[in-house]
Amino acid sequence: IMSSRKFFVGGNWKMNGDKRSLGDLISTLNTASLHDETEVVCGAPTIYLDFARSHLDARIGVAAQNCYKVAKGAFTGEISPAMIKDCGVEWVILGHSERRHVFGENDELIGQKVAHALESDLGVIACIGEKLEEREAGTTEEVLYGQTKDIADNVNDWSKVVLAYEPVWAIGTGKTASPEQAQEVHEKLREWMRTNVSEAVADSVRIIYGGSVTGANCHELGSQKDVDGFLVGGASLKPEFVDIINARA
Ligand code: PGA
Repeated sequence: IMSSRKFFVGGNWKMNGDKRSLGDLISTLNTASLHDETEVVCGAPTIYLDFARSHLDARIGVAAQNCYKVAKGAFTGEISPAMIKDCGVEWVILGHSERRHVFGENDELIGQKVAHALESDLGVIACIGEKLEEREAGTTEEVLYGQTKDIADNVNDWSKVVLAYEPVWAIGTGKTASPEQAQEVHEKLREWMRTNVSEAVADSVRIIYGGSVTGANCHELGSQKDVDGFLVGGASLKPEFVDIINARA
């Protein structure tokens, strides 16, 4: 039985590309045959958000990779959800592992950003994930539930949120979680939602997997019952991204 959750494939370009290479990628995506039952969103570097939104076909969403927790003010170097919206961009990625672990963002700040982005009517791709040492110490669930709670406490309308499970040890490492490992975590997260949010949200929220997703492993990962799509880094910069988008086709 297929669930009612629309398959969601996000690309996270991170700090990569330039107008020429991203322009080529955009042309590839615009002319590709994309499964129309799949929602596609590309996460562009801040300075290319306007470029990406004005060149990408309307059927493909655009996401910022971060934003700040207030609308405007003396916050040098930051961008607000209002500015993202002003560029016609619909989504923002928040709580990505690199924001947490390279730039030191904590659960509280991420929660505040989630709240403000949603108030500003952006869709939020909210990321969580355990580190290798946490998995090895057996604290995966505790870590993920803690991160999820700080997000959930700031969400009223879950239809605007996609939860991305991205084990830190799988990001950019080529070490993908096995389909069984991904399914096990996604199922537990959905159960957490059932207990702590509601039945309806548990059944409808999309929980996507990220961490070394490729054209080769996307089919098996994407066929797991509780895997509702992907957040793709490295492979989202390649034509292979089209195969990942069409994994459920
Ligand atoms: P990766 O990155 O696909 O290159 O592992 C995933 C992510 O960070 O979202």
